[in-house]
Amino acid sequence: MADRRILVTGGSGFIGSHLVRRLLDEGDEVLVVDNFYSGTRGNLSDVLNNPRLEIVRHDVTFPLYVEIDEIYHLACPASPVFYQRDPVQTTKTSVVGSINMLGLAKRTKAKILLASTSEVYGDPEVHPQDESYWGHVNPIGIRSCYDEGKRCAETLFFDYRRQHDMPIKVARIFNTYGPRMRPDDGRVVSNFIVSALAGKPLTIYGDGTQTRSFCYVDDLVDGLIRLMATPHEVTGPINLGNPHEFTMSQLAEQVIAMVGTDVPGGGGGVEYHPLPSDDPTQRQPTIDQARDVLGWAPKIELAEGLDRTIEYFRDHLALHPVG
Ligand code: NAD
Ligand code: UDP
Ligand code: UDP
Repeated sequence: MADRRILVTGGSGFIGSHLVRRLLDEGDEVLVVDNFYSGTRGNLSDVLNNPRLEIVRHDVTFPLYVEIDEIYHLACPASPVFYQRDPVQTTKTSVVGSINMLGLAKRTKAKILLASTSEVYGDPEVHPQDESYWGHVNPIGIRSCYDEGKRCAETLFFDYRRQHDMPIKVARIFNTYGPRMRPDDGRVVSNFIVSALAGKPLTIYGDGTQTRSFCYVDDLVDGLIRLMATPHEVTGPINLGNPHEFTMSQLAEQVIAMVGTDVPGGGGGVEYHPLPSDDPTQRQPTIDQARDVLGWAPKIELAEGLDRTIEYFRDHLALHPVG
């Protein structure tokens, strides 16, 4: 018998599917709750027969009555394409979904961790971003359903803490990438790799000078597990991300260099598209807190992480061609 029963909401999504495998490897019993809006059963295909894994199709905007010891609350589409497709549902997922999961945590006395985001900093006027920065967020733009939804989710976590002294943990996750991102996910790493492998031009939005800092998914999952294991007084919010910052043009060059040599069309070159509104111009985490409190820092360099991700897409697209 496993010692702990752990609920992972959004467990069939990109990050969730990696977290679930880690928890199963550590001997835990895992309950995945997911409405399959942006995740798929296929993401968990090789662990579906594990007797310690249970998967339930459920939308977290509805109450959930189960018995668990810990909750990793990840349910929420994370790619702009997916979260903007049904923005009202995105806000409901973050706000009503968090109320339900906090109510569940309260009743079961479970520890609960929120997968929050660097988007709470918006288009930051402070650079790099540390946890004390309150952010620069447009409340009525096309990204607001996600940004303000997560900001409200953080508020709810801290109010449940203040009102009920609950064991909460808030992780502010910066851009994360790796195997099992969807080919049609719309985020930049998957878009660039899928295009390069097809010999098509990489789509740069704007002039490509905007920056991001990308963390490989295994590092990120390690940070989430360390945060969950902290004592009651540690609540976060804690930034989890890789401080290595670069422009989207540099990312395109690197992907083309890595894929281009063995693809007809030489990796496709680049083409320029309009920049979506409210697209943050820069983003880089300060991770001093994660280092001090969790003893955590990312280990996987961009080149190695990209290599593993390209390998995944090469195999995945051969089995499941798109378009
Ligand atoms: P993802 O879209 O691959 O996974 C989200 C999962 O949540 C999917 O399986 C989806 O079907 C499920 N889901 C969505 N709405 C739901 C609902 N109402 N009820 C039940 N399930 C629902 O995204 P991801 O990249 O794996 O992100 C996971 C979490 O991490 C999200 O909360 C996201 O906001 C956060 N995060 C991710 C990143 C990143 O770069 N990947 C960055 C910051 C924060
Ligand atoms: N809830 C849930 N599962 C539980 C307990 C609560 O889904 O095991 C939901 C329920 O919908 C409730 C919400 O969590 O409305 C918030 O619960 P809380 O106890 O904080 O407040 P309540 O609304 O019950 O007063
Ligand atoms: N982006 C791009 N080409 C794409 C997809 C995204 O140039 O095909 C840009 C996007 O405008 C943003 C950056 O890459 O400036 C990161 O986008 P992503 O959607 O991955 O993450 P987020 O904007 O949420 O950080």
